[in-house]
Amino acid sequence: MNRLLDRFDHFLIDLDGVVYLGDQPTLCAAETFTALNDAGKRRLFITNDPRHTAQGYATKLARLGIPADPAEFLTSGRAAALYLQREGKTGRPIFVVGSDGLRSEIEAVGGHVLKGNEGVTAEIVVVGGHEHFSYQELKIATLAIQRGAAFIATNRDANFPMPDGLWPGTGPIVAAIEVATGITPVVVGKPEKLIFEIALDLFPPAAAAPSSATGSTPTSSAGSGRGSPRSWSSPAAQRRRWPSGARSVPITLSKTSPA
Ligand SMILES: [Mg+2]
Repeated sequence: MNRLLDRFDHFLIDLDGVVYLGDQPTLCAAETFTALNDAGKRRLFITNDPRHTAQGYATKLARLGIPADPAEFLTSGRAAALYLQREGKTGRPIFVVGSDGLRSEIEAVGGHVLKGNEGVTAEIVVVGGHEHFSYQELKIATLAIQRGAAFIATNRDANFPMPDGLWPGTGPIVAAIEVATGITPVVVGKPEKLIFEIALDLFPPAAAAPSSATGSTPTSSAGSGRGSPRSWSSPAAQRRRWPSGARSVPITLSKTSPA
């Protein structure tokens, strides 16, 4: 652990199965991930689970004994929202197959989310697994994509670990829409590169990294010395930092509806 601490300033940390299993922290999770923060390391907890907001995960980790700021979480849902923002598409009508948490992440970046049957007129469909997935959602997403809406999947995970076994994840729901439409989505979450590009952009420039940390950084350091994720509010600046040639995933958003 100490050697790892010496070698790296930034840590990308998986949540499901690494920090917790369901509502149970993994062995030594609280000590380990709190120690990173105490040593002045930058943490970004990354999960493909798009059901909850960053705030929701911060609250959950606090409950498990790991204080963390909401800015230290990147869900595949938040990544999808930041991707839409980066592409300047948040003003386009969006239909969300997913939880209220996913909808609020998209609305948090200014996303224009359509409700109910209005969704068939969406120009972008964003899909995240959730417990209340319905035929109605499947139908609306299918009709919108048939009419030319871009198809964005938060991730393709077949399942996720829970104490009683593997529960179905976003992948089976994406597959249903894929089969119904014959269209392959742009996938944002792990293991695709997009979420990691977005993750790296959430870390501050190297000069601002806590390279001289001595272990005295307060555990609760929200906002201090952290690169501000609010910088995402400037898509132009993002483009400058990420020349389009660096993208590995084809951008198909303007397929039918130029911005
Ligand atoms: Mg995992």
